Amino acid sequence: MSKQWVYLARNGKEEYAKILGHTPSLDEMKVLFGGKGAGLVDMTAAKIPVPPSFTITTEACVVYMETGDFPEGMWEQTLEAMKDIEAQTGKKFGDPADPLLVSVRSGSRVSMPGMMDTVLNLGLNDDTRVALAQLTGNEWFSYDAYRRFIMMFSDIVMGYKREHFEHKIDELKAKEGVKLDTEVSLAGLKWLVDEFKAMYKAKFGENFPTDPYKQLAVSIKAVFDSWNGERAVVYREHEGYPHTWGTAVNVCTMVFGNMGDDSATGVSFSRNPSTGEKTLYGEFLINAQGEDVVAGIRTPLKIASLQDVMPEVYGQYAQIVDLLEKYYRDMQDMEFTVERGKLWMLQTRNGKRTSPAAVKVAVDMAEEGLITRQEAVMRVKPADVEMLMRDTFDPKAQKTLLAKGLNASPGAAVGVAIFDARRAKVAAAEGKAVILVRPETNPDDVPGMLVAKGVLTQKGGATSHAAVVARGNNIPCVAGCEDITVAAHQFTAPGGVVVKEDDAISIDGFNGEVYAGAVPLVQAKYQDQVDLKKLLSWGDEIRHEKGFDVRANADVGVDARRAVEFGAEGIGLCRTEHMFFDPRARDAVVRMILAKDQSVRDAALEEMLPFQEQDFEDLFDAMDGKPVIMRLIDPPMHEFLPPYHELIEKVAELRITAPGSEELAEEERMLEAVSGMWEVNPMMGLRGCRAGIMYPGLTEMQTRAYVQAACRCAKRGVDVHPEVMIPLVGHANELKLEREKLETVAKQVMEEEGIEVPIMFGTMIEVPRAALTSTEIAEHAQFYSFGTNDLTQMTYGYSRDDAEGKFLLQYVERGILPVNPFQSLDQVGVGRLVKMCVEEGKSVNPDLEVGICGEHGGDPDSIDFCYRVGLDYVSCSPYRVPVARLAAAQAVLRHG
Ligand code: PEP
Ligand code: MG
Repeated sequence: MSKQWVYLARNGKEEYAKILGHTPSLDEMKVLFGGKGAGLVDMTAAKIPVPPSFTITTEACVVYMETGDFPEGMWEQTLEAMKDIEAQTGKKFGDPADPLLVSVRSGSRVSMPGMMDTVLNLGLNDDTRVALAQLTGNEWFSYDAYRRFIMMFSDIVMGYKREHFEHKIDELKAKEGVKLDTEVSLAGLKWLVDEFKAMYKAKFGENFPTDPYKQLAVSIKAVFDSWNGERAVVYREHEGYPHTWGTAVNVCTMVFGNMGDDSATGVSFSRNPSTGEKTLYGEFLINAQGEDVVAGIRTPLKIASLQDVMPEVYGQYAQIVDLLEKYYRDMQDMEFTVERGKLWMLQTRNGKRTSPAAVKVAVDMAEEGLITRQEAVMRVKPADVEMLMRDTFDPKAQKTLLAKGLNASPGAAVGVAIFDARRAKVAAAEGKAVILVRPETNPDDVPGMLVAKGVLTQKGGATSHAAVVARGNNIPCVAGCEDITVAAHQFTAPGGVVVKEDDAISIDGFNGEVYAGAVPLVQAKYQDQVDLKKLLSWGDEIRHEKGFDVRANADVGVDARRAVEFGAEGIGLCRTEHMFFDPRARDAVVRMILAKDQSVRDAALEEMLPFQEQDFEDLFDAMDGKPVIMRLIDPPMHEFLPPYHELIEKVAELRITAPGSEELAEEERMLEAVSGMWEVNPMMGLRGCRAGIMYPGLTEMQTRAYVQAACRCAKRGVDVHPEVMIPLVGHANELKLEREKLETVAKQVMEEEGIEVPIMFGTMIEVPRAALTSTEIAEHAQFYSFGTNDLTQMTYGYSRDDAEGKFLLQYVERGILPVNPFQSLDQVGVGRLVKMCVEEGKSVNPDLEVGICGEHGGDPDSIDFCYRVGLDYVSCSPYRVPVARLAAAQAVLRHG
């Protein structure tokens, strides 16, 4: 016997089970029967009323694609299956007395909406049309079905476009003075059928085929061919689905929703796909065929009113919906038809839903006992949580696209364009919503960024200053928008469109788009999201069993408190340089940097200490009971001084306007100092622990402030867990030196304060050499935190601030790189260093605590990787904490 290419819905599941040797899962059935076929087989097995049908497998399509012909035995099996459904329905294909009509539908293993073809009402010809009229007592309907069939067959099977036929329908409607297809007269329909047949003959030189089996054979071929139709190929390429899958063909008994007022057709969801609320949601039309609902020719009725028009059917439908939900254990999207009072289910599949609905349905289903809490946690995509944390643009709003950049920090923001941080502060103080637009940002822009609703930069990438600060503060940011040219008071977009200061613009940090004018917003609030909070708390239980934590990157108390509100379990990174920008300490910072002798430096450091101490106390208070990792000063020192080019301009100006003045002398001193500090490549220069080592007293001051704050908080009853982190270590000796120095300070402070706190010392792993020498580094570290921003920069040799704007995004677009490695961790390369570093570090120091605090700590794929390589926690911006909590729980569920 030849291979089985055709399966009946009534026993397909059992038949396939015999071949597989086990009951097939829905996914297994989808591979062979396609999604629609699997649904038909599955629903029939579950005793749902489904019109008798059979499915020709995707394997048959694959052979057809290779050979251009049906595989051996397929057509014979199709004829057998037709006999079976004839027996089930008591009708006969082509019988002039009681004809069976069928639909021939495509269906691949994944839904490809509208991409492939379907032929309805197959089996109609002049004779069977008469029978249909007699059986239904509805001649009008019989002609309507016939003209639909000729049109569809000609279009889909023969490639004679439906527009030609639609012109004829329009002609008829105009002639009869009616608006709707359903209003044309019987005589009009008869004329239409004759016209359609004549058109067919004129086009193809032969009569419209009357033999139903011929109709069937060519339709099956046409559906197979539609797999390689242009639309389908483009769709698969876009979605990344292989072209080798093929489509199944489903041959289903036709049922008619247009047999009079006791017939209807509709589509509905088992729950509201927009809110997730548990009510039937959908619409239907009395006396109509399925395509009428979708085509929007008539306005459909809300599904609830089916209860009034067909109470019994509604009751049965509601029961079936319940059954289907219980069977599939997910929200269903269904098509149904009522044929003269009898309800038939035509299709069911898991329904697409919005992000709020995804969360609500998952939580409700778990509480209803339909799915487990673990399943609920797996059902929601991290992107859904991300979505719920952000304001979004009203999807119904009109938008005018100006430019597109990098989606650096998610969310939607609307405001007036302001091109300078100082003016941004003024505008915000006047109550304006501000979008700060800059060529790129630096620490001086931070005050402007903090008052802005969003940030747009022309240069810089996903870990540029603008992106990091924006994410940390939950401000939407479009960075590296090289489409625009930013000047002092305006920017120019492609096409010469000029946006001036105070003009309204809208930026979308989800997709990097910039729009003209104020696009209306829809707002989100975490605290009000009861379902989301519940779902994440279930995820937390799962994570905690495996000790996989989520911390936040937060520099000041207010951020830390927000992080706790979002569920952070500690601070994984406090970038202490934030405090160096504090205007109260700014003068002292400058003096500290410029000091030529140690006593001047010490005096400046002493002035800085109280500001740092105060901020640290605030952090410990906020994080009561949770660890706080304080990273010692990291950026190049020149970042705390005025920019070189500004000083040059200033000095040149003063030499003309105020020669010999004290101001000029001061600016000249500053210029000399800044030029002395100038580095070709500051990111690889005097920064991180190198600065700590080279500027005596600096890291000692920070550690003193930090331990002092910890001791003082502890004395007030706060449960403190301080951890001091030494950045940018490349050689074990750097760490050894710094740690010994700082441990001495810590001990001394504890003695002075008269209290001991459980302090830890560790390092960031940011330099590849540190990762490569983990066994040496681990001897001096109690913890590692992977600074994957720098680690990626230095492993790839890509400058974090330039690469995305210059070539990296193109690399991703052209497929040279699979993803942007600054957004999602390069698991193969950088990840290999991380994995090796953890293993080797733990081999010499089994108690080593390991985490990540680079931007990747908030990226779901990277979080999955972190769990797999044994990290104890991930740390990310406060607003990404909820996403990270979900992604971390999912990683635990995936990998155990
Ligand atoms: C890192 O390099 O990953 C990191 C967290 O440090 P920063 O981004 O402050 O350099
Ligand atoms: Mg770093």
